[in-house]
Amino acid sequence: MDAAVRRALALAAGPENFHTGFDQRLIFASDATGKQFPPEAVVRAVDTAQISRVLATCSAHGVPVVPRGAGSGLTGGALAVTGGIVLDMAGLNRIIEIDPADQVAVVQPGVVTGDLQAAAEKLGLFYPPDPASTGFSSLGGNVAENAGGLRAVKYGVTRDYVMGLTAVLMDGRVFHTGSRTIKSVVGYDLTRLLVGSEGTLAVIVEIILRLKPLPEAKTTISAVFARLDDAARGVGDLLASGIVPTAIEFMDDDTIRIVENYAHIGLPVGAAAMLLVDVDGPPEVVQRQGRDVAALLRQAGGDPVRLARDKAEAEELWRARRAAGPATYQMGPYKINEDIVVPLGKLPEMVRRLKEIAKQRQVTVVAFGHAGDGNIHVNIMCDQSDPDQLDKAIQARSDVFAHTLALGGSLSGEHGIGISKMGFVTSETDPVALELMRGLKKTFDPKNLLNPGKMWPPAG
Ligand SMILES: Cc1cc2nc3c(=O)[nH]c(=O)nc-3n(C[C@H](O)[C@H](O)[C@H](O)COP(=O)(O)OP(=O)(O)OC[C@H]3O[C@@H](n4cnc5c(N)ncnc54)[C@H](O)[C@@H]3O)c2cc1C
Repeated sequence: MDAAVRRALALAAGPENFHTGFDQRLIFASDATGKQFPPEAVVRAVDTAQISRVLATCSAHGVPVVPRGAGSGLTGGALAVTGGIVLDMAGLNRIIEIDPADQVAVVQPGVVTGDLQAAAEKLGLFYPPDPASTGFSSLGGNVAENAGGLRAVKYGVTRDYVMGLTAVLMDGRVFHTGSRTIKSVVGYDLTRLLVGSEGTLAVIVEIILRLKPLPEAKTTISAVFARLDDAARGVGDLLASGIVPTAIEFMDDDTIRIVENYAHIGLPVGAAAMLLVDVDGPPEVVQRQGRDVAALLRQAGGDPVRLARDKAEAEELWRARRAAGPATYQMGPYKINEDIVVPLGKLPEMVRRLKEIAKQRQVTVVAFGHAGDGNIHVNIMCDQSDPDQLDKAIQARSDVFAHTLALGGSLSGEHGIGISKMGFVTSETDPVALELMRGLKKTFDPKNLLNPGKMWPPAG
């Protein structure tokens, strides 16, 4: 980036919001992948008009722009892989309004997910999407990745709560999509197109989110299994039972051990698997369904199966589950972290195949995740400085993807493609559909400057 471009960008952003110092570039060089791509400069976003000016300036000078929320992405979406600027959206963190009558929240994209959940709950309302990163991820990042999370079994994912957006195109034009009405069928659904677009189509500057009434009560059931197959069967039986739990989370033997090492809450080290199930609703329904879920899991082989005594015990169990991602680093300094998803009926088979892949490739595979959605977080642990280990881990990942697709699954349930899975996209996506996606990208961003080098490999 030459001096004239730097001057133009400082003018557009405001000099106090434009940073080219090494320290700032380093802070914004990486995300939760741990990979490092220092940008040439960092711009702190302050309002829509400034973002519009910055994007138009970058467009005029051919400078790539990478929008960034909290940097908790697990696929490298917020990394400046082709240089340019990182546009830091974290400062746009105002909850503009929560309207109980309309049951909507209007927020800026830098609001931390958990802050909106807490603010809504104070008014008896509920924002259901609940990624395990809720304490630090941003709503803008959630929308851009279509984040899922723990409560998706009953309540769906971020996409199901985004009613409308304000966004800025790479050429600086500002546009609105959707509305704050429950129904609206005017034109193509650009809101849905932007959800999950990983910051490649437009920069999201305001979000209208749907809220629900806060459930009156909830309870947590934990079940320990001596056999992995029984746990998988328990999930299947539960889903077929007619009860719709809020969450069904699964931890394998390694996950139980490392989470216990990390959180020290008395998890059953040595067990083959553990399920955590939440049900919510009116108190009498929760009580009845809690008992029914426990009975069902006992029948599937769970022993012990327990209902959490109180809210504190339930929260402790969920805190432990949320710690599973970071805790995996006890098993190796580096991980290939995938979030495959398979049709619900194929979950037991996929879990079995993961164990086989680990054995065949001689790698450690730690698996946990959102069993009620068929979404398994597969962590292939290795020491990346050891070429042999890294090679085995890479081969194991290819096996995992091949088996996922063979079972009718998908490469990513919620973490997105970013740079991590780019090379595999063509194995899942229909070639004509991919051509249409490339065409859409050209329409939104003809110069390919907004978050380039992400989501799919270059044509040809
Ligand atoms: C411990 C841990 C647990 C996690 N658990 C879950 C989970 O349960 N479910 C789940 O879905 N994910 C989970 N994640 C992944 C991550 O938290 C989500 O992908 C989250 O949505 C990313 O939000 P962010 O604000 O950190 O976005 P970033 O990492 O900053 O960016 C992610 C992508 O969004 C784009 N982006 C960010 N803001 C904007 C904007 N305003 N406009 C346009 N594009 C934008 C970026 O360009 C990038 O492509 C977890 C991560 C960690 C570290």
